[in-house]
Amino acid sequence: MNVLVLNCGSSSVKFQVVQTDLDLISKDADKRLASGVIERVGSESLIAFSAEGRPKFRTAEPLRDHRAALDRILRWVVAKDSGVPEVSSLSDIHAVGHRVVHGGEKFTMGVLIDDAVVDGIEDTIELAPLHNPANLKGIMAARELLGPGVPQVAVFDTAFHSTMPETAYLYALPYQLYRRYKLRRYGFHGTSFRYLAYRYRLMTGKKPKDVNIVALHLGNGASACAIKGGESVDTSMGMTPLEGLVMGTRGGDMDPAVAEFLHHREGMSFEQVDTLLNKQSGLLGISGLTNDMRELLEEEKENGDRRARLAIDIFCARVRKYIGAYLAQMGGADAVVFTGGIGENSAEVRARVCKGLEWMGLTLDAARNKAAVGGKDAEVSSAASRLKAFVIATNEELLIARDAVRIIKGAPRRW
Ligand code: AMP
Repeated sequence: MNVLVLNCGSSSVKFQVVQTDLDLISKDADKRLASGVIERVGSESLIAFSAEGRPKFRTAEPLRDHRAALDRILRWVVAKDSGVPEVSSLSDIHAVGHRVVHGGEKFTMGVLIDDAVVDGIEDTIELAPLHNPANLKGIMAARELLGPGVPQVAVFDTAFHSTMPETAYLYALPYQLYRRYKLRRYGFHGTSFRYLAYRYRLMTGKKPKDVNIVALHLGNGASACAIKGGESVDTSMGMTPLEGLVMGTRGGDMDPAVAEFLHHREGMSFEQVDTLLNKQSGLLGISGLTNDMRELLEEEKENGDRRARLAIDIFCARVRKYIGAYLAQMGGADAVVFTGGIGENSAEVRARVCKGLEWMGLTLDAARNKAAVGGKDAEVSSAASRLKAFVIATNEELLIARDAVRIIKGAPRRW
């Protein structure tokens, strides 16, 4: 089956076309046929598409909304000169898999989308006002453009964390707020963490129940996950993605009284505080330069910029703190696993995160660590390290495509 995987953000649409099926999944032989992104949906949009193995097609044109963006993607995918293998008309798209950010307590697994599921996703908008409306737009656009005959599946970022115990997901707020609003921690990056657990299992030959790792998704958004017995038992993001690690533009953990302070002293509304915490904090806020880790590392190296260094150091210290916390909660683990743009590509950040962790049995192999960049999966700890370290390039789209196939074919969801 050819599955169109869609990840709709508020002003962007990312896609992949993945060829997969139950036999290909069992052989780990599924193939990506095409991928791409449209940014700045709603104005002069930036388009970058590529068929597998072909140079990128780039252009800019006005695309008014998510429907127009999806229409542009579909027209490109089926066009002869795009060179997407196996796809020459819309009938060659057999299913759509949507990344949906928030599933609330309702969705603990991926589901086939029908009207009740759409209603359920609408019900969680209160918990994810920035994300779920865009996901719904993508679902509606795909329904309209591909027709009701093409099954659509929703895969939720929160779902993998539905196994967290109450001790991890409840905030220490008055309990009735949880009862009334389901106000609790949910966690995100779940599909990425599930992929890491799966790939780690393949790399080490372990059974799912023997996967005990601290997983670190370090990208522009960043979170940590304690995976015990193959299941999420704690994660650093909360009711929204604001909590936990330092991120590109989010500050992560902080005293909630900061909001009231800013309201009084800066005259900020709660909306302005929300924007500050989501868009102006984190690496960008501390450095005053950029939210981009690669640029900060260059700035630190070439110009010795003090605040660039501070931003990187605070980022690494927070990650280290979570590794320690999760190892304590889990009673130890077998490995720390890095992924995300930073985790997959920056040997420097990995080394700084792990610095000083030798006492608890984690030592990196400098040469292996340096070599593990650019999407390569590798063990990067030294042979003597008791706690291992791995780099695994995440692939959420692949899991979404696989989930779509399994759900449509009624096959039980496996790893
Ligand atoms: P993501 O959100 O997963 O795409 O990750 C984006 C982040 O990864 C940005 O902060 C990038 O600067 C960072 N990144 C990508 N490549 C590198 C690299 N080679 N070294 C350091 N950071 C990188």
